[in-house]
Amino acid sequence: MRDTEQLISELKSDPDIECVLRNAPMSEYCSFKAGGRADCLLVPRGEAAFVRVLSLIFGMGLPYFVMGAGSNLLVRDGGFRGVIVKPGADLRAVRVGGNLITALCGASLAAVSDAAADAALGGLEFARGIPGSVGGALYMNAGAYGGDIGGVTESAKVFTPADGAVLFLRRNEMEFSYRSSLFRRSGVVVLEARFELVPADEADIRARMAEFARRRAEKQPLSAPSAGSFFKRPTGGFAGKLIEDAGLAGLSCGGARVSPLHAGFIVNEGGATASDITDLMEIVRSTVFDRFGVMLEPEVRIIGDDIQTPL
Ligand SMILES: Cc1cc2nc3c(=O)[nH]c(=O)nc-3n(C[C@H](O)[C@H](O)[C@H](O)COP(=O)(O)OP(=O)(O)OC[C@H]3O[C@@H](n4cnc5c(N)ncnc54)[C@H](O)[C@@H]3O)c2cc1C
Repeated sequence: MRDTEQLISELKSDPDIECVLRNAPMSEYCSFKAGGRADCLLVPRGEAAFVRVLSLIFGMGLPYFVMGAGSNLLVRDGGFRGVIVKPGADLRAVRVGGNLITALCGASLAAVSDAAADAALGGLEFARGIPGSVGGALYMNAGAYGGDIGGVTESAKVFTPADGAVLFLRRNEMEFSYRSSLFRRSGVVVLEARFELVPADEADIRARMAEFARRRAEKQPLSAPSAGSFFKRPTGGFAGKLIEDAGLAGLSCGGARVSPLHAGFIVNEGGATASDITDLMEIVRSTVFDRFGVMLEPEVRIIGDDIQTPL
C-alpha cells in the first residue's frame, strides 16, 4: 500500500492524468454495477500518459490491471490490491481513411461501428450493440451474429510494459480465436487498432444494425446490469441452453439471478455483491456439470480478492 501511496502522490497533480482515485469503488466502473474497490484507479488522458503510467507501475513492481469499458469485468468484494488503469477521454478517437478505420483503445465499439456506417463501410455491423471498448474487444475477440473483431482487425499498435516496447502487430500475429487472443495470453496492452472494412450501401449497413439490435432487445435482458453472456460457448452447444435444460433459469443468489429471458446471462437485480454473482456462477457450473458432464468456463474476467472472514 505504501508503494501505491507513492504512485498516487507522484501522479495526483500530473496534468496528463485525468483522474487518480484512491480506494475506487469499481462497481461504478463495471457494467455489473457490483464488486469491490481497487487500491487505486488511474485514468491517463492520452497515449503518451498511458504508456508512461504503465511503465512506472511496472517499474515499481505494483500489481496492475488494464480495463476498458468494464463490460466484461467483475472485481471480487475484497477488492483489487493494486492499480487499475482505464483509458481516458483522449484515448477514444476514431479516424476514417479509405476502407480503414483507426480507433484508439478507449473508443467504444458503438462509436467505431457508427463511424463505419457514416462512411458506408460494412463489416462492423455485428459490433454495434456490444458495449465494450476497442481494447477490451481485441482482448476478448468480441463477436456476435457471425462476426468477430479479429475478422476485421488489420493491425494494432501495442505496448509491452515488461520491455517498454511500442510496436505494430498484424492480424495474423494477434492469435485471434473464439473469445481469445494473444492479449488474453500475455501482458500486451492494446493502444490502437486498425480495422479493414468493405464499401457497402449505408442503408443496408444501418438495416443490419437495426436487425441485430432488435434481436438483442428481444432475447437479452438489457434493462438489468450484467456482463452479457456470463459463460463461454462450450464445444458443440450453447451455455444458455444447457443452463435452461438444467432447470436453472430464474435461480437467484442474493441480488444475482440467472436471467429467465436468457439463461446465459447472470443479472444484478439490485444490490448484488460480487460473491452473490460468483456463488451463483459456481452453482450453475456444478449443476450443469452433474447433469451434462460439461464444465462451463466464465467469459467474464473476475479479478481481486474475496472478503476475508476472521477465523
Ligand atoms: C449487455 C451486454 C451485452 C454483451 N454482448 C456481447 C456480445 O454480443 N459479444 C461479445 O463478445 N461480448 C459481449 N459482451 C461482453 C463485453 O461487452 C465484451 O467482452 C467487450 O469486448 C469487453 O470490452 P470492455 O472494454 O468492456 O473490456 P473490460 O470489461 O473492461 O475488460 C475485459 C478484458 O479486456 C482487457 N482489456 C481492456 N482494455 C484493454 C487494452 N487496452 N489492452 C489489453 N487488454 C485490455 C481487460 O484487461 C480485461 O481482461 C456484452 C456485455 C454486456 C454488458
